[in-house]
Amino acid sequence: MEKQEEIQNQKFYMEKIKEMIKNQNQKFSIFTMGCQLNENDSEKLSGMAEKMGYEKTEEQAKSDLVIFNTCCVRENAEDKLFGKLGELKKLKEQNGIIIAIGGCMMQEKHITDKIKESYPFVDIIFGTHTLHRFPEDLYKALSEKKKIEDILDIDGEIYEGLPIKRENNIKASVTIMNGCNNFCSYCIVPYVRGRERSRKPKDILDEIKDLAQKGYKEVTLLGQNVNSYLRVEKEKNIQFEEYEGVNSFATLLIAINKIPGIERIRFVSPHPKDFTDDVIEAISKCDKVCKLIHLPLQSGNTKVLKEMNRKYTKEQYLNLVEKMKNKIPNLTLSTDIIVGFPGETDEEFEDTLDVVEKVKFEQVYMFIYSRRVGTPGDKMENQVPEKIKHIRFDKLKKLVENQIEENNKKYVGTIQKVLVEGESKNNKELLTGRTDSNKVVIFDGEKDLIGNVIELKIVSEHMWYLKGEKICQNFHL
Ligand code: SF4
Repeated sequence: MEKQEEIQNQKFYMEKIKEMIKNQNQKFSIFTMGCQLNENDSEKLSGMAEKMGYEKTEEQAKSDLVIFNTCCVRENAEDKLFGKLGELKKLKEQNGIIIAIGGCMMQEKHITDKIKESYPFVDIIFGTHTLHRFPEDLYKALSEKKKIEDILDIDGEIYEGLPIKRENNIKASVTIMNGCNNFCSYCIVPYVRGRERSRKPKDILDEIKDLAQKGYKEVTLLGQNVNSYLRVEKEKNIQFEEYEGVNSFATLLIAINKIPGIERIRFVSPHPKDFTDDVIEAISKCDKVCKLIHLPLQSGNTKVLKEMNRKYTKEQYLNLVEKMKNKIPNLTLSTDIIVGFPGETDEEFEDTLDVVEKVKFEQVYMFIYSRRVGTPGDKMENQVPEKIKHIRFDKLKKLVENQIEENNKKYVGTIQKVLVEGESKNNKELLTGRTDSNKVVIFDGEKDLIGNVIELKIVSEHMWYLKGEKICQNFHL
């Protein structure tokens, strides 16, 4: 079926379910694990559920439909899912709720086998490549009262035109590409999300213009390998329509930068090897592109990086940092680091600490290596003992926290432009926002500042946030 025809088909099923549950006040809840891409997928699932007539609730006990959007990247995700399913068994027996599980984990056969064997009350299992068919799967589960398994093992397609229910009305995530061709040896993503494919420039720009019209101020461009946008299409001579000059990641940033109303552009997650000169230049020239750039390091040791299949050396990474710092004024960097990859020695780990010392990251997302079934890393025999991994992790954490503390002090006394996001979670009397460098700032201000970029004077620093004071109102960038 053609893609547009497929979406029409799904809209037909949405209408059928709406009719089926009319006047029943049915509710759904959704539980999301994992990254921002998964959160964006959950917004699409929520959009479809609302179109079908379900109302969202945060309480699983009051739900008629419970959706799990799973992730298989982080450790403990499986335990979390199975724990939740155990809790739901009673609800299923009492209220006959519909349970649907989707996402990355469902692309792993050993997981779906376990669900079918140990949790046979689950109604729908769907994968990453069949999310758009959720209405049809749900309709069949409801009308035919049978278990549905809808998983495809393919490279993946992109479907446009699904309804979406966004979680936030100031900041929005926009997926620009999906899948990954890099096959880092610790990562399961290429196996569960398929090969790289990019959305059409027009579809992305139309979505962002629509967000701007609705009052959104910040967009985060998402992709498993976001800065290789349209690279595969060009390499493989796959035809795509250029739109408003967009034919690469750099030109996409330039085009989004021109959209009135959008004030901030962020993107995750890039790969260092795809920070080509045109991308660096676009970041430096586009005033709306935030100057906090995520540059995943993973390890600071060249041998470990080779084993990880990261395609850069320690020196190349440091040279790239140097080049970016020279070309992008006010650049700050965040990173991801994996501690205890198979074969990593104490000496090799010291290289990671050395890079952290040298670069002085604004934020570091630290992970203890955990095995993923089906990846080359899982088959490596020289796994690092857990105890050693934890010792190294604590050492890295201490260094990072010291650096963050030092770095935070630099903010005190400065004036920062802050996008005001809402009330502070811990104190509703205060407001919270973020700087260009993604630092949380808490301050006292009127609620009508929410959604604006204002200038704040930073008056004190704390480990995970800064305190600010208003110096003028409604300052727009
Ligand atoms: S670039 Fe590497 S870490 Fe990132 S999604 Fe692809 S395989 Fe995984």
